[in-house]
Amino acid sequence: MQKILNYINGELITPKNNQWLDNYQPATGEVYSLIPDSDADDIALATEAAKAAFPSWSTMPVGERSKIMLRIAELIEEKLPELAKAESIDNGKPLSLATTVDIPRARDNFHFFATGIIHFASEAHPMEDKVVNYTLRQPIGVVGCISPWNLPLYLFTWKIAPALAAGNCVVAKPSEVTPMTAFLLSKICQEAGLPKGVLNIVHGLGQKVGDAITVHKDIKAISFTGGTKTGATIASKAAPMFKKLSLELGGKNPNIIFADCDFEDALTTSVRSSFANQGQICLCGSRIFIERSIYTQFCDAFVEKIKQLKVSFPTDPDANLGAVVSKPHLEKVLSYIQLAKEEGGTVLCGGNQVHLDGEYTNGYYLEPTVIEGLEYTCRTNQEEIFGPVVTLTPFDTEEEVLQMANSVEYGLAATVWTENLKRAHRMGQKIEAGIVWINCWLLRDLRTPFGGMKNSGVGREGGFEALKFFTEPKNVCIKL
Ligand code: NDP
Repeated sequence: MQKILNYINGELITPKNNQWLDNYQPATGEVYSLIPDSDADDIALATEAAKAAFPSWSTMPVGERSKIMLRIAELIEEKLPELAKAESIDNGKPLSLATTVDIPRARDNFHFFATGIIHFASEAHPMEDKVVNYTLRQPIGVVGCISPWNLPLYLFTWKIAPALAAGNCVVAKPSEVTPMTAFLLSKICQEAGLPKGVLNIVHGLGQKVGDAITVHKDIKAISFTGGTKTGATIASKAAPMFKKLSLELGGKNPNIIFADCDFEDALTTSVRSSFANQGQICLCGSRIFIERSIYTQFCDAFVEKIKQLKVSFPTDPDANLGAVVSKPHLEKVLSYIQLAKEEGGTVLCGGNQVHLDGEYTNGYYLEPTVIEGLEYTCRTNQEEIFGPVVTLTPFDTEEEVLQMANSVEYGLAATVWTENLKRAHRMGQKIEAGIVWINCWLLRDLRTPFGGMKNSGVGREGGFEALKFFTEPKNVCIKL
């Protein structure tokens, strides 16, 4: 069986303890590769390698660093079919999605920050005659990057690329649930000539490897994407060590549809924003609020469209939804559907596990599920489910929908559908979310600040925000 290896000091190596974990293929429910069950010893090795690489990487002319990163982007592009296939096998997502979204975005992340660093500049503050302050932005040193399973290479590279571009050396951990494309990225880095130790990828469990990154004294900053609870654990350990933290956490995003919207656009986009990637995107809108005058019309049309979605094995070109990521996750989502029923919800469509034929019979498939009739305060409407489940709720006024939308502990993203320009601006200002899409969803300009308010996170990624996070500002004051 194929063994995934750690990438430490430029070499692909086994974990020091020689312990391994099973890696499941969600489409079949079968184990198809082994993952290092690494621990603090491997993190110590990786951190030593990163420390040793830091002096030359951080002082390398920016243009040269950029060239190596551009080569990595080129290689991701060249190997797109292989990477997309690996991502789809590892995660269960439709191959078409991995081919058109995940891997192109991983390439773009490297390309974006490889070029972005060339344009990165800092400020000067002339004070009075003959005194000037200028801000030096220096790389931090060794930084840790920890990423989740839903968009594996996409989110992994979204952290690694700005960290490397800014001149840091990295110790990174992909989710143990979806490690394969991070492993393939290690081989790409070797081929691209990334100097040894600059990037180190250590595989294994969050509670061992992730924790060892969090508490290692020489890892000075951590960029984490994952659940809110894990974010709190990391913060509680890293904050007393005064580490710099960027936390991108969970969400429970509202999708608000006013009667004056472009109905067809709102309808088709809501299908996508509810169920893309089996609803496992932190930006998916899981609570759909619909103005009462179009509630029935919207519900009927929405449910009709959802019934036409095809749940199938990931290589089926007609698959709209593939498998969810793991058995525990499937069970978690099913338990929320049960909870919704207990809370008084009516399942308008879906609600059940799907059993495909042949080799896919034990895969983790789930019908896209639409539920109505729930209080906005109930657990189903307050807790993150992170699967193909959405609720529909009518509203009468702007004030009422804002109150319901903002009632959750999260504040990651929101979508608003209206043709009323003044209302669009009002909603944009009053919704408690780091990202508000008006009449669109998941339109991403990589220069914009990305992140959540409230329990959805601390700090922002994207563009110069990310490069600022991965550098230490130093004021130099000179009297001439
Ligand atoms: P988790 O929080 O379970 O895991 C995220 C990463 O942290 C994984 O690599 C995990 O390892 C690791 N980890 C787990 N425990 C610890 C620990 N104690 N110390 C350090 N690292 C640890 O999230 P999921 O992987 O389940 O991802 C889903 C979550 O991510 C959802 O809540 C979703 O909303 C959120 N998310 C947020 C995004 C955003 O931009 N705000 C984007 C995408 C997802 P392992 O896998 O081995 O447990």
